[in-house]
Amino acid sequence: MAPSGSRSIKKGCQRVLYWIPVVFIVLIVAWSYYAYVLQLCIESIENTGEKVVYLLVYHVIFIMFVWAYWQTIFTKPMNPLKEFHLSYSDKELLEREDRGESQQEILRRIAKDLPIYTRTNSGAIRFCDRCQLLKPDRCHHCSVCDKCILKMDHHCPWVNNCVGFSNYKFFMLFLAYSLLYCLFITATDLQYFIKFWTNGLPDTQAKFHILFLFFSASMFSVSLASLFIYHCWLVCKNRSTLEAVRSPVFRHGTDKNGFSLGFSKNFRQVFGDEVKYWPIPVFSSLGDGCSFPTCLVNLDPEQPSSPTGSNPANKGAAEGRQFPSKPLRESQSRLLTSTPSWTESDSATEKEKKGASNPGMTIENEA
Ligand SMILES: [Zn+2]
Ligand SMILES: [Zn+2]
Repeated sequence: MAPSGSRSIKKGCQRVLYWIPVVFIVLIVAWSYYAYVLQLCIESIENTGEKVVYLLVYHVIFIMFVWAYWQTIFTKPMNPLKEFHLSYSDKELLEREDRGESQQEILRRIAKDLPIYTRTNSGAIRFCDRCQLLKPDRCHHCSVCDKCILKMDHHCPWVNNCVGFSNYKFFMLFLAYSLLYCLFITATDLQYFIKFWTNGLPDTQAKFHILFLFFSASMFSVSLASLFIYHCWLVCKNRSTLEAVRSPVFRHGTDKNGFSLGFSKNFRQVFGDEVKYWPIPVFSSLGDGCSFPTCLVNLDPEQPSSPTGSNPANKGAAEGRQFPSKPLRESQSRLLTSTPSWTESDSATEKEKKGASNPGMTIENEA
């Protein structure tokens, strides 16, 4: 009893500690609100027009920033669907086998009916021992959350949450609005910051808030800009942070552009089809997080006749019984083609023709 009791106390303490970075950010933001709105705009700016414009623009950015931050923190990461979990009988079967090869045989049989195209480095089916499930493509086990997270990007201490399929758009908007927030404060505070050094400000406590506001906003701008630019690049390339570190492995081998469909489609996979939803933190990403259209760069050595551009549907057909060809889910079809008509009856040549005429399936030639 004692060990499990102390373990739960330890876990509880850990859970509290994980909130410290979030509390730190909230305190800084609360102070920046006080310093900007009260000390700078209300106390120090004399021109009413300037005051009103600054306060209006500031509050719009502030609301969007807090909204995106809230959504990133409190959107639960999505876990693999039930169909990826091992059934009770499969679990028993797996436990009985002690040879790795026989276990792989069982996993391969289960994976046959699932839209799984990535493998481990050694070419084995990706299996999570802790969650007892076959990992969907782009899914990874997070050691902090102790769960498998769909399209896991990274575990972010600043939001005390896993950034993945369910909240990646929110995370991107959080970076964008926090950068905008810092840049706006830096730009509007600049002239008063200069006045501080030229003794143009009245001798009140407001001048110190103006000074520190400029330092902290410009410092955060630099670090946020680099992080934001990096994630914009990842969105353009359709890679997660984890995939940028270690490229996904497909049956034909490692392929860092395996999920890339071209800039426009990569962007829409995260932000959705409707432009009006792009800037607001409501969920609009395409897909279900368990399966992703792929765009294979290298030819599959096991299928010499495979088309240059490929996707899960024709890949499944080419691999024969390994992965039965299935109609694509609606969002995937929208990403891949304007005429979603992949069916099992389509012949390979028909698919090749469609693949060749589909701009989303062109090869990404990249070093
Ligand atoms: Zn797991
Ligand atoms: Zn996590």
